[in-house]
Parts: sequence; C-alpha cells; structure tokens
Amino acid sequence: MTRRPYVAGNWKMNLLAADALRLASDVMRKTARHRSVDIGIIPSFPYLMGIAQRLEGSSLRLGAQDADPESFGARTSAVNAEQLKSAGVGFTLVGHSERRAAFGDSDADCNAKVHAALNAGLEVMLCIGETEMQRDQNQTQSVIERQLAGGLEGVSEDQWERLSLAYEPVWAIGTGRTATPDQAEQAHAWTRSWVEQRASKRVAAAVRILYGGSVKPANAAELLAREGIDGALVGGASLEADSFAAIVAAAANSRS
Ligand code: PEP
Repeated sequence: MTRRPYVAGNWKMNLLAADALRLASDVMRKTARHRSVDIGIIPSFPYLMGIAQRLEGSSLRLGAQDADPESFGARTSAVNAEQLKSAGVGFTLVGHSERRAAFGDSDADCNAKVHAALNAGLEVMLCIGETEMQRDQNQTQSVIERQLAGGLEGVSEDQWERLSLAYEPVWAIGTGRTATPDQAEQAHAWTRSWVEQRASKRVAAAVRILYGGSVKPANAAELLAREGIDGALVGGASLEADSFAAIVAAAANSRS
C-alpha cells in the first residue's frame, strides 16, 4: 500500500497574530504545487479561526495543538474538540511531549482526548516517543508500546482512518539532534507492528507514522526515504515558510 506523505508544522507558542496569518498565507502559496502530500499547520488557539478563513478553498489542513476532553462547562481556559471543529479545525495533536512534560498529560488523559476529538469529528495525530534516559536504558520499544496502548485504548477499527501517529523522540525535539534514519526506521517499525497486532494488518498498512525531532531541509530527505517513515511533524523549521516548503518538497520527492 502506498501511503500519502503527510507533513505538519507545529508552531507551538510562537508568533503574533499578524505574523501567524502571514505565515499561513506563505505556506499555502509555497506548498500549493505539492499535491501528492497532505500538509498541515498547527498554530496557537487564538489564531485558528482567522487562519481557517484564510485557508478556505486551500487543501492545507488546519490543526490544533491540543483538545480538552471534556464537554462544555466550567473549565476556564480549556478549549474542547467541538469548539475546535466549529472554528474550522480539522485535526488535533494529542500527547505532544511538551504537553506530557509541562502539563502532565498522562496516557489516560491522552486517551480521553483521542476519544473526545474523534467523537467531535476531528482527525487525531497522537505523539509518542521516549526520553533520552529511556533510550539509554533500552526502553524505547516498551515506552512506545505503553503510550500506544494507553493512548489508543478503545479505538475501533473504523476510527483508525482518522488517526495518524507521530514518533518524536523527546531528546530530538527542539535540540538540533535528530534520530538517525536507522533509529527512526526501527521505532516506526515497532510502532507499525504494534498497530498490526492490536488493530489489524489492514490498519497497519494504511496508518501514517510521521517522524518528528529537529527535522530540517538538510535532513528531511534521508529520513523520509526510509521505509515506514510517512512524513514529518516539524517544529522549529515550520516557522519559516521556505524551510517548511523545502521539507514538504522532500516528502513529495520521497515517493516520486
Ligand atoms: C515538535 O514540536 O513536534 C518538533 C518536532 O519540534 P522540532 O522540529 O523543533 O524539534
């Protein structure tokens, strides 16, 4: 099965409103010719509606960085999946390592968010990945499997169509250190094999697993050329339209 490459830019807590709108327009313009790639941008919450309007008629996907699992009510500061959907958002990250580390998101929290987002009609990109210490202690596979099992408990086979996974070794995020293509390929293989055992062969063949962790124009091609690496979740390099577009071009070329 050929999986469509998928490249998403996580803007994190960066940019002022006017810069975010400009970046969205620039990304739209500079990536428009890469029709073989699914492309997403993931701005901060306050910019989502404005950017959704700007993206009308474009195939660029709009994502949120998180989605609260609760329904409406007294949860000051939280934004739930239905609100995101109504604001024009198509997908949400769940379990980004910065959410896990800075806000204490557990696998159970991620699971509640996955279900709430899927039920609201959003697509979900679940992020998984080990810390440096866990890698040094040879725990990478067990950590990934624990995060997958906890985060995806109760997901039905038909819901997998709206799920993608991002393998992001924590030690490679925002550090300038990238997993070697061998390390990334191995982790993706463990992830896909877990999906095959827990969901099905069909789901495992179809699900897209992105790599994230200091992906730049200079290293994107060698990572994306690897079997089982279906795209990239990009942080720092997604804040500059030319470097993000270069990574998208590498994804397009990786399957041509
Ligand atoms: C990320 O935020 O998911 C990420 C991979 O960041 P960076 O590309 O900056 O390492």
